[in-house]
Amino acid sequence: MQIIDKIYIDGEFVTPHGDELFDLFNPATEQVIGRVRLADAQDARDAIAAAKRAFPAFSRTDKRERIDMLKRMHEAVVAKEDELYEAITEEYGAPVSRGRWMARHASNVLLEATKVLKDYAFTRRAGTAEVVMQPLGVAGLITPWNSDAGFICGKLAAALAAGCTAVVKPSEMSAIQTHIVTEALHEAGLPAGVFNIVTGRGDTAGAQISSHPDVAKLSFTGSTAVGKSILRTGAETLKRVTLELGGKSPVIVLDDADFDHAVPLAIQAGFMNSGQACIAGTRILVPGQRLAEFERRVREEVARTQAGDPRDPRTSVGPMVSENQWERVQRYIRIGIDEGARLIAGGEGRPEGIDAGWFVRPTVFSDVTNDMTIAREEIFGPVLSIISYRDIDEAIAIANDTNYGLQAYVFSEDERRARWVAAHIEAGRVLINTLAHEPAAPFGGFKQSGIGREYGTFGLEAFLEPKAVVAAF
Ligand code: NAD
Repeated sequence: MQIIDKIYIDGEFVTPHGDELFDLFNPATEQVIGRVRLADAQDARDAIAAAKRAFPAFSRTDKRERIDMLKRMHEAVVAKEDELYEAITEEYGAPVSRGRWMARHASNVLLEATKVLKDYAFTRRAGTAEVVMQPLGVAGLITPWNSDAGFICGKLAAALAAGCTAVVKPSEMSAIQTHIVTEALHEAGLPAGVFNIVTGRGDTAGAQISSHPDVAKLSFTGSTAVGKSILRTGAETLKRVTLELGGKSPVIVLDDADFDHAVPLAIQAGFMNSGQACIAGTRILVPGQRLAEFERRVREEVARTQAGDPRDPRTSVGPMVSENQWERVQRYIRIGIDEGARLIAGGEGRPEGIDAGWFVRPTVFSDVTNDMTIAREEIFGPVLSIISYRDIDEAIAIANDTNYGLQAYVFSEDERRARWVAAHIEAGRVLINTLAHEPAAPFGGFKQSGIGREYGTFGLEAFLEPKAVVAAF
C-alpha cells in the first residue's frame, strides 16, 4: 500500500493544503494499492505563485541552458524507467509491450524537445521588423490518466523549451506514476518554481489553474466536454489554449488493400492502449464487396488477441482503468446491440475465465451505420465498428461525418489513391499503411478533437507569442 502525501511546489516536496484522500487501484485485481492526498485550489494557487516568481529569470535563459536542463530531465527519467514501467503496469494495467513503450516515451519526449529547440530560430525578420518569439508566461498543463508520464513530460518539455514556467495538474487516478516522474524530474535540479506538480481533482485544482489570471497559457489533454469548459473558463482572461481532446478515428480500407497487412494493423489501431487511446481507429470502413472476407479475417485476428493479465507478454488488451470506465464500455456494447449492430467478436462481460479485474472482451460490431451511437461517440475501450461503403467518395463522406478529427488511417496498395484519400480527410494526422509515431510532426485535432498542435516546432510555438520590433535610427 503506497501513501502519497506530497505534492511538488517551488522545488520541494510539500504536504498539500488539501486534505481529501483518494484511493488508487490496481485495475487488474480491483484491489486498493495506494492512497493519495489531493491538492486543492489553495495548492494550485501556491504552485502558480511559485511559477510566476520563477518566470522572469527562467524566461531569460538561453537555448543552450534550456537544452542542458531538458537533457538532465531526460537522463533522470531514463534512470527511473524500470520503476515507472512497474507503476504503469500496477496502477494502469498496460500490457508489457505497451507499458515498456510508455515508460520510454516519457523520457523520449524530453530528448525530442532538445532537437526542436536546437534548430529553432527565436528571432526572424518580417519586412522591416525584427520578430522575436517570446515565452507566454506561466503555463497550466492539465493531463489525463491514459498515458500519465508521457503527457506530463511532453507538455513540460515544450513549455520549458519555450522558456515558460509551469504548473502541472495530472489526473488523480495516476498518482503513483506521477510521483515517480516528479521524483525523477526533481533529480534534474532545475531552479525552484520552474515546474510544479499538483495532483488534485479537476473541479478544484484544475479549475483554479484554468481560471487564474496569472496563468497565461493552458495546455489540456482530456475529454472534449472538459476541454470546452476549460476554453470557456480561460476566455475570461484570454488565455492561449491548446486542447487535445477525443476522437472517433476512421480506418479506411480501400478495395485494393492487402488484408494480410491491413487486418492486423486495423485491429492494433483499434485496440491500442487497451482501447483507451484518443487516436484509436474505432470506425473501420470496408468496401461492401469485400465485407464478408474482411469480417472473417477480423474474427480470426480477434481470436488471436489476448485480453487479460497485463503481465503476461502474450496479452495485448489490458483492463480498463477504473470501474466507471468498465461500466461505460459495457453500456456502449449494450447500446450497439440494442441499435441493431451485429456482434462479430466479443460482447458484454469479462473475457472467458476471468472473474475479477476491469477486463472487457475485445469487441467488434459489423453492419454499423454511421448514425449509430457506437459510431458517433468516443467509447474509450476496445469496441470497434465496421461500416461498409459503396465507393471511395462514400468512404470519405462517412470518414468525415463526425464531430471529431484527430487521426485517420488508410490501407491500400496504391500510393496515389491512398494519398488522394488522405488529402480529403479532415484529421490532424493521417497514417497510411503504418501505425508509426512521428515525434517531429504536429499532433492535434480538427473540429471538436481540439485546438492547436503539440510536438515539434508547432508544439513549441504554442508556448510562444511573436513580438514585432520596428525601429528607425
Ligand atoms: P477528463 O477530461 O475527465 O480529465 C482530464 C484532466 O482534466 C484530468 O486531469 C482531470 O482531473 C482534469 N479536469 C477535469 N475537470 C476539470 C475542470 N473542470 N477544470 C480543469 N481540469 C479538469 O479526461 P480523462 O477521463 O482523464 O481522459 C480520457 C479522455 O481524454 C478521453 O476523452 C480521451 O479521448 C482524451 N484524450 C485525448 C488525447 C489527445 O491527445 N487528443 C490523449 C489522451 C486522452
